[in-house]
Amino acid sequence: MTNTQQIIEQTEKYGAPNYHPLPIVISEAEGAWVTDPEGNKFMDMLSAYSAVNQGHRHPKIIQALKDQADRVTLTSRAFHNDKLAPWYEMVCKISGKEMALPMNTGAEAVETAFKAARRWAYNVKGVEENKAEIIACENNFHGRTMTAVSLSSDPDYRRGFGPMLPGINLIPFGDIEALRNAITPNTAAFLVEPIQGEAGIIIPPAGFLKAARELCRENNVLFIADEIQAGLARTGKMFACEWEDVNPDMYILGKALGGGVFPISCVVADHEVLGVFNPGSHGSTFGGNPLACAVSIASLEVLQDEKLADRSLELGEYFMEQLRKIDHPSIKEVRGRGLFIGMELTEAARPYCEQLKELGLLCKETHDTVIRFAPPLIIKKEELDWAIERIQKVFSN
Ligand code: PLP
Repeated sequence: MTNTQQIIEQTEKYGAPNYHPLPIVISEAEGAWVTDPEGNKFMDMLSAYSAVNQGHRHPKIIQALKDQADRVTLTSRAFHNDKLAPWYEMVCKISGKEMALPMNTGAEAVETAFKAARRWAYNVKGVEENKAEIIACENNFHGRTMTAVSLSSDPDYRRGFGPMLPGINLIPFGDIEALRNAITPNTAAFLVEPIQGEAGIIIPPAGFLKAARELCRENNVLFIADEIQAGLARTGKMFACEWEDVNPDMYILGKALGGGVFPISCVVADHEVLGVFNPGSHGSTFGGNPLACAVSIASLEVLQDEKLADRSLELGEYFMEQLRKIDHPSIKEVRGRGLFIGMELTEAARPYCEQLKELGLLCKETHDTVIRFAPPLIIKKEELDWAIERIQKVFSN
């Protein structure tokens, strides 16, 4: 059997070098745990960037995958399929919106939101053709496509990929006055992560989302929440916007929408917004395929049936409390909502992640100095205690 070393060598030889993973190979997974080819077990504290909120290989989701694989997997949108319709209804009911548009990856859903906002600006708001502007936030992460990197303020994400898409303005995350000043008659939308994930689990100042929502309403600007990472129970609510009772014009969803089993993403909004698309204006061969929809229905049912938002809230509070008790000069702050937690250090986080890996805990640093703790939401309290013991050990000297 191939071992960890061989697999890493093969990866480095043939794979484009666009990632820098920790030196661990995962060959099996279940619940909150993963196993390497040598049989070593690790606890997963990343959950594939919150795509595995329901836990690895949740039996109900795997069963839905298998059942659907035995029926039909892909029809394209040239024909209807019998899983897309119930998926539409379910995702609309959960989000309280009138319409949904399915895609596959998060970045594609961001593209969809961007196109919808621009077309809405021309067709509904009456902005002059090619003049629409989108406002986003500094240090955002919306993916890796050209639209997403055009939105980014990180030079590493943009370098060598120009020219960027025009019509984008950035404001500091959480700065309501900057948003007020950035809005013009041509502004189509304000695009925001309710909690910035990749930036290091950054929670905006209290009241920002609500004030931004109001400002958008007053100025006829769409408020678009990218909940690809923070949404679907991760922060202790079904949607992170609920933390401020904000109802956006559009949600962008992905990751846990497919339970970590099959890629599916979408945007959901009311008819006034998504009705701007007509046949031929947008789409994807795999978007809305019956396999993804069957998996997604099961994934959403698991979130609801197992009350994973409540679980995340309760366990997140407990976990943060324990983390805050660790007394170490390098720990600057522990912050988060539910099981979406960042521990900010005064020094590089990667060596700590490497030490944690040696003790059986898989974490990934984000933005150099932050360790993200985001386990699958099905994790048990005893498993969190197991993790806390190891984290304490790493910060014991
Ligand atoms: N938006 C947010 C907030 C994300 O966290 C991510 C991925 O981390 C994306 C968009 C992009 O999703 P994907 O990697 O599926 O394209």
